Formats: sequence, C-alpha cells, structure tokens
Amino acid sequence: MPEIKAFAAQDPKSPLAPWSLERRDPKPDDVQIEILYCGVCHSDLHTARNEWGGTVYPCVPGHEIVGRVTAVGKDVKNFKVGDLAGVGCLVDSCRECENCKDGLEQYCSNGMVGTYNGQQKDGSGNTYGGYSKSIVVREEFVLRISDKLPLEAVAPLLCAGITTYSPLRHWKVGKGQKVAVLGLGGLGHMGVKLAAAMGAEVTMLSHTPSKEKDAKRLGAHHFILTSNEEQIKKAMGSFDFILDTVSADHDYNFYLGLLRTNGVMVCVGAPSAPAQVPAFNLIFGRKSIAGSLIGGIPETQEMLDFCAEHNIVSDIELIAIKDINEAYERMLKGDVRYRFVIDMATL
Ligand code: NAP
Ligand code: ZN
Ligand code: ZN
Repeated sequence: MPEIKAFAAQDPKSPLAPWSLERRDPKPDDVQIEILYCGVCHSDLHTARNEWGGTVYPCVPGHEIVGRVTAVGKDVKNFKVGDLAGVGCLVDSCRECENCKDGLEQYCSNGMVGTYNGQQKDGSGNTYGGYSKSIVVREEFVLRISDKLPLEAVAPLLCAGITTYSPLRHWKVGKGQKVAVLGLGGLGHMGVKLAAAMGAEVTMLSHTPSKEKDAKRLGAHHFILTSNEEQIKKAMGSFDFILDTVSADHDYNFYLGLLRTNGVMVCVGAPSAPAQVPAFNLIFGRKSIAGSLIGGIPETQEMLDFCAEHNIVSDIELIAIKDINEAYERMLKGDVRYRFVIDMATL
C-alpha cells in the first residue's frame, strides 16, 4: 500500500500540518485518482475542529476533489487512466437500501461513508479526504468531469454546487418564483448562480454590505442587507423559497418572517447550536422549514452536466496547502470570494 502525503488535523485545537497516510491498492471496482485540486468547505473546518462532535483524529478534510485517473481495477467500466474525475462528499454506501436504489445515497439507511471522517465498509477504518495526493474510490462514487471548464473552479461544485442544486431541484425552483439565498459564501454564491440559471428571481440576503456588487455580478437581481430594517420590512412575506447557507448560529425566526404563505425555508448551513422555532411561526402562513444534505450520485452528475452546459463554475481563490490554516481564519471572517481551492501540486 503506497504512503502518500497529506495535511491533517491531529486534534481540535492544533493547526493542520503535514502528515502521511496509506491508500489501498485499487480493488477490481476501484478508481485511483491523483488529486489536482481540492476545494475548502466550511464543513472541513467544522470537522477539523470537532464543532459537530465525533471527529476521529488524525482528520484529513477535503470533499471537493478533482483529479486525473492513474489506475483502475479490472471491473471498472466508465473510467480509464488519464480521464478527469471528481469525488464529492461520499465514497460508499450500502447500495441496496431504498434510498441507495433511488440514487439518494447520501440518505443511505445503513449510513453513507463520508469522504473524510467516515468508516470504511471493509473495516479498514477512518476515511481520509482530499487534502492529500491521491484517493482510491469505488467507481460508482466517482463523477465524470467536463474538460471544457477550468478544473480548479469545478472542484467546489462537488459539494457547494450539489448542496445548493439539490434543494433547488427538489422544491422545483424556477421561473415565476421569488427565491432568497441567505449567506454569500461558498454555498451561497453557487446557490445564487444556480437559482438564477433555473430562471428564478433571486435576492441575496447578506450581513456584509461590501458583497452587494458581487451578488449582482453572480446573478442576484436584488440585494438585502440583513441589518437594514427598512429593506427587511419591505421584504416581509415576499419569498417562495429561502436557501439558508449560514454557517454560524442565527435566528431562524427572523428569516421565516420573509416567507409568503406556503413558503419553504431550507437549511443547508449547519451551525452547531439547535434552532429554536415556535410552532406559531410556521402555523401562520403554512410555512415549512426543511433540511437537505448534499445530493446523491446521479444528481451530482446531473448538476455537473448542467454546469458544463450553462458554463457555471465557482469563483475561487487558489491557495497553496501551507496556507490552509490562514484560509480557515479568513473563511470564519467571511473573507473569501467565494471559495478557497487548494492547488495540490503545492503539497
Ligand atoms: P462559508 O463559505 O463560510 O459561508 C458562510 C456564509 O454565512 C458567510 O459567507 C456569511 O455570508 C454567512 N455568515 C457567516 N457568519 C455569519 C453570522 N454570524 N451571521 C450571519 N451570517 C453569517 O461556508 P460554506 O462552505 O458555504 O458552508 C456554509 C454552511 O453549510 C456550513 O455550516 C457548512 O458546514 C454547511 N454545509 C452543509 C452541507 C449540507 O449538505 N447541508 C454541505 C456543505 C456545507 P454573508 O457575509 O453574506 O452574510
Ligand atoms: Zn462541503
Ligand atoms: Zn443504502
């Protein structure tokens, strides 16, 4: 088993630092990928710092992976050496339960295997993510990547892209609907681009005034500064759909007031504190609050193809791996336009 270079968190408090790990030799169904770029998701930070609990150390984050196939097992049908390939947030599931059969592997009844901080089905232990030189993944969990788009800007589609695409599709967002995207970060900027491409009238809800110009450039028709009482008052009861991407604790009730009758607010942002929502805030106006987890493999491929067709990629800042800890600090301050991507050649 080859030893490869990686960057890992050894505990919740220490900065990420060089480490090495072993990847399995490809089994008959496996694809081995040299990682070229890996996006930096806020979930990487939540996990590295054990903000959700349950982190197994050493922890190698990274689930927005694009690279090139370097070997395939003998039963692999859809990939060959030299192909571009992507890996998102999951690398395995039971493949037999109802959800898996429906292409909803992220909701596998027997537990999906996360790309990092997951437990391998073969008992070989913890999974390690994309802050590393290479990865070996079962073919069914490897995505096809178009060669028409800049590869480094495609990487964030593997999590930020699918996490926003999936709820927009599930709740049939499109023409004639007023959609708000809350939080302009990695997920939020993809949410704006995708909702606009689907034909909705998009409003960006942000607590950062300097992001207004960018929001419009990304495709938002309107911008509301959440601290501006007048703008908020005008928007009360106006949205069909709110996509909440905020990573920090916040008051859900404040935003529920912006929904019209039958409106839906979908939480994809995952702060650690539980939400306090009085039933009355849902009863009046028959409102819903829902959640959504990334997306299944078929839908992830559909999203990648949709983005290739509509020329949609992430707005990125390319960084060297040695700058990952500084990138985490900047992400916490909302100082990222709009996704850090690690150039893995720097590892
Ligand atoms: P991010 O790039 O850090 O963006 C988060 C955005 O939230 C910020 O840019 C900021 O936007 C807003 N925000 C931050 N702190 C805030 C505060 N105190 N009050 C109000 N707004 C605040 O993070 P991300 O990578 O997009 O991830 C967002 C969240 O989604 C994380 O919790 C992550 O773990 C979660 N996530 C969930 C899934 C899923 O499957 N459901 C998948 C991936 C990630 P403004 O400056 O515009 O206000
Ligand atoms: Zn993610
Ligand atoms: Zn399953």
